[in-house]
Amino acid sequence: MTGSAQIVRIGASAGDDQATCAARIAAKARPGVRPAVWPDSPESRYDEMMPGRIHAVLDRYEFDGVPVAHALAELTKDDALHEGARQWIRHAVETYVASGVHGGPEPLDAVRRYWVTQHVNQRTWELYAWGRRYQSADGLRREFRFLRNGHARQGPLARTQVAIAAYTTAFGSPADWPRPWREPFRPAAGCPVSWVRVVEVRLLDGSQDVLFEGTVEEAEALYAEHGRERVRQIAVGGPPRASADCADCKLLSTCPAVRRAPNLLGIASQRRALRTWSVSDGRYYATCPAQEHLRRIKLPKIDEYDPDAIRGHAVHAWLEETHGGMPRVPCRMGDTPLRADDWTAGRWHVTGEEAMLGARMIAQHATVCAFQHADHITEVRLEPSLCYFDDATNLIILAKPDMLYLENNGWVWREIKTVRRHRRMDTDVLQRFPQLALGVLILSANLLGGDPSGHRVELETLTPDDADIEPFDASDPAIVVHARAIVRALAEPWHRDDVAVAQPGPHCHECPVRRWCPAYPGPGPVS
Ligand code: SF4
Ligand code: SF4
Ligand SMILES: [Zn+2]
Repeated sequence: MTGSAQIVRIGASAGDDQATCAARIAAKARPGVRPAVWPDSPESRYDEMMPGRIHAVLDRYEFDGVPVAHALAELTKDDALHEGARQWIRHAVETYVASGVHGGPEPLDAVRRYWVTQHVNQRTWELYAWGRRYQSADGLRREFRFLRNGHARQGPLARTQVAIAAYTTAFGSPADWPRPWREPFRPAAGCPVSWVRVVEVRLLDGSQDVLFEGTVEEAEALYAEHGRERVRQIAVGGPPRASADCADCKLLSTCPAVRRAPNLLGIASQRRALRTWSVSDGRYYATCPAQEHLRRIKLPKIDEYDPDAIRGHAVHAWLEETHGGMPRVPCRMGDTPLRADDWTAGRWHVTGEEAMLGARMIAQHATVCAFQHADHITEVRLEPSLCYFDDATNLIILAKPDMLYLENNGWVWREIKTVRRHRRMDTDVLQRFPQLALGVLILSANLLGGDPSGHRVELETLTPDDADIEPFDASDPAIVVHARAIVRALAEPWHRDDVAVAQPGPHCHECPVRRWCPAYPGPGPVS
């Protein structure tokens, strides 16, 4: 890395306690630090930063006086946006404007410049928040608005995020966005503020919550309680933890936490824009390229999980909790939910028939629990996030096995599938569950270490009435060749494609992003 660490710039989003990698956030907080050599990465065909696009349209409306309809019409000529992305942006902007920002007895004016606090000692410390800003004509009343998608899986904003937003709204001075980013903010003279509000607006439905409302003294107290120490920790950073966020990290080319795995997927080494890829992405793409793209750019999803999927997640979460205890003991038939018809595991809650089926599957698991051989197991990783960088194709490959365990120095990659009844005997299991095929490739490349001759992948199948294990030897050349063909067939068409054309069909009825897709044929039968 090179450049200057003189400026420490922390935005409210850095306070997200769901963020996976403290090293990345700390690096991001140094706008003057950059890689010594930027990796050569082509631009992606489509713009994937939807929040930036939504703000840009709102800027045209609020600051340039362009009517909303005209500002949105400007997008139709923009071929850096997928048609589904345009539909979401249109919805989000119209919903936001209709949510009544400017209503109420004391209307507020939109504020173009950021509110930035800047404190100079050995370093230049800057705090800001990214969102919409409004103030009264005399400047005494200020309001900051977080814009969020609003889908069900978004939890509440972290208290640090709210504290930074409240503090910068109360004490920040107006400043333009630094260009280039490595330059400091240049705040104008501050003006007194007496009252502050921080609001969250959800763009899916226009609903809003007031997250903070009070005087500047109260904003300072909130920051003292939830912001100041956390900001210091954010700046210090922590150990790297690989995840999908690595694709947006300036440390990627030097990070020790992301192992290089050239040609892992076995696809032609044509360089594309840096992207992540998982088996799920491959499956979404195989169903419909547009669906994969619209999921990738994080458009709000509806009806993402059917009852079978929710029950499957609940069973996985239950077993993960059970296996997380120490000492490691094998599960027993009786280790099932107290109330079989109504139980919760992790963030999944099931009731009625689905809950009963899930409880029976958990009971069946006892007969195949990996910990029956706990005395041979020296290490266990539950739902680990695995992340490899193929710098030939510029892909970050992500995988999350249900369980990894080291048995006699060979890694066992176990995936658990829950089904109502067993599949046909002639099913090609690696083809049916390509995450097993990717597991074979990762183990055969010895990316986890250990004794390569002992690595295997296991499929644990749980039904309400029985359970079984199917092993695949990751050192068997025939299995590796087959696994490579499966993974390549899933990844290569996606890697080549940068248009993501919609492929409507019966699957559209279960597509969680159908609301944004112009090709969605509607709820009736699809020919
Ligand atoms: S490359 Fe990934 S693991 Fe490494 S610092 Fe960046 S986000 Fe963290
Ligand atoms: S609605 Fe159908 S065509 Fe549109 S993205 Fe979803 S699956 Fe593809
Ligand atoms: Zn078990």
